[in-house]
Amino acid sequence: MANNNTPNRRDLLKLLSVLPAAAGVSSLVRALPKANNSSGHIILLVFDAWSARNVNLYGYKRETMPNLTKWADRAIVYRQHHTAGNYTVPGTASLLTGAHPWSHRAINLGGRINKEYQNRTLFNVLSPKMNTVGFSQNIYADQFLAQSGSGLNSHLPFGSFNLNDRVIYDAPFFTRDSINAYSAFEDGIVQHGKGIDGSLFMGPLVRLKATRDQAVLLPKYGEGYYNGLPESLESYTLAGVVDGMINTLESLSKPSFVYFHVFAPHDPYRPYARFFNAFKDDGLISPPKPDHPIIGNPVQLKRMQSEQLKYDAFIASWDQELARFFEFAQTSGLRDSSTIVITSDHGEMHERGVSGHSTQLLSEPLLHIPLIITTPGVTEQKNVSSLTSSVDILPTLTNLAGVAIPDWVEGQLLPLMGGQEDPARSVYALEAGSNSAFAPITEYSFAILKNDLKITRYQYKNYTGTEVFNFVKDPDENTDLHDQNDPEIATIKLELGKKIAEFGLAN
Ligand SMILES: [Zn+2]
Repeated sequence: MANNNTPNRRDLLKLLSVLPAAAGVSSLVRALPKANNSSGHIILLVFDAWSARNVNLYGYKRETMPNLTKWADRAIVYRQHHTAGNYTVPGTASLLTGAHPWSHRAINLGGRINKEYQNRTLFNVLSPKMNTVGFSQNIYADQFLAQSGSGLNSHLPFGSFNLNDRVIYDAPFFTRDSINAYSAFEDGIVQHGKGIDGSLFMGPLVRLKATRDQAVLLPKYGEGYYNGLPESLESYTLAGVVDGMINTLESLSKPSFVYFHVFAPHDPYRPYARFFNAFKDDGLISPPKPDHPIIGNPVQLKRMQSEQLKYDAFIASWDQELARFFEFAQTSGLRDSSTIVITSDHGEMHERGVSGHSTQLLSEPLLHIPLIITTPGVTEQKNVSSLTSSVDILPTLTNLAGVAIPDWVEGQLLPLMGGQEDPARSVYALEAGSNSAFAPITEYSFAILKNDLKITRYQYKNYTGTEVFNFVKDPDENTDLHDQNDPEIATIKLELGKKIAEFGLAN
């Protein structure tokens, strides 16, 4: 253990956020002295754009995640967990604040959490009780970490686990400072480009830089990848991300809340060739669905199918690397002494004319996400089939840490983690990306899930419609029940109307 006169690993980690690029953050993390074992951590892993639909633990026919399945042998698996937003900004903001998008108002591409909620993140709530560490490989989510201010004790820069740290950072456009880097990024790409979350790589400058990065990095690090190195604005390897997570966890010297927002399996999908080759001839092709009428320029079926194949192979590649993380968690004692939460910010879809998650649709592949929790005392798999929401994470972890649950929280305690199954519970999702964050919401997609039914209202100038699906009997959403004369549907529609009025959405 470090004595009082030498900086401990945590102090050094704190320093990382102000070090210049040339220092090579990843290698520095590796060089820090290892701390004594500590326990009682809460670790929240978010895999970006990770749909439950494509995970075999959740019933997918293709075996994309055998290592996760094994990990879940002694875990609580939430079978009907849903995100409150269909892309990074609203999805992550709801996960971090325990509030819905209409409250925290991070609804636009590149949007931030409003003033009222920006210091209401998990970091802010848990920091009086625990050390807090945050890392996001997605620059949009990284903004929320920066917004948490003093609530976040150690903010690892978004590029910490990428390859570029040591090689590429020579352009002033890419500074290490989170806010500055983001502002430059926003000015250059989001405002002038057609940036939306799934098109992070559309900006010409970023594209050019990425091409150059790949030329430099691919020969050295690209072995085994099918179509180039993974990218999150910068190039990275899946193994490098796992190394970064393990090294960070090894550095903890006191009970900590640690947030890792990993970019995989977000596009561009860059799988290992072995998984791509194993899946491409397995005959498991999802049956086509009609294009949705809201989609102006539908993606062709062939393209959607080939993207799904790459997405699945990328998930499988990430699972292979995760095996090392699981092994580390097991052998280090972390698994038995800490709580590890694995989830996503939103899902991904390759159907109905959409490939990705840049869409107004609130289809189940976008909203239904994994949630798997390991915590001391859980010695076998337990399954929760009632509805849960991403806004439940904050109150649950707050309660676990022994902190009073703030009164502004809109979620509930998760069943088996302090809460009870609530069969009458409703969960919500909102997509309102085309509205100003500061004005009433006039165009939106709004979904309510209750009992076994999901009702979605699409309210746009060019399209309005209401859809009703039974997400238990018909998880593929093939049979729209909206014109059925069913009293239960009528009751939920009434609740949907009430919510819309309550949150100031135009009806
Ligand atoms: Zn995301």
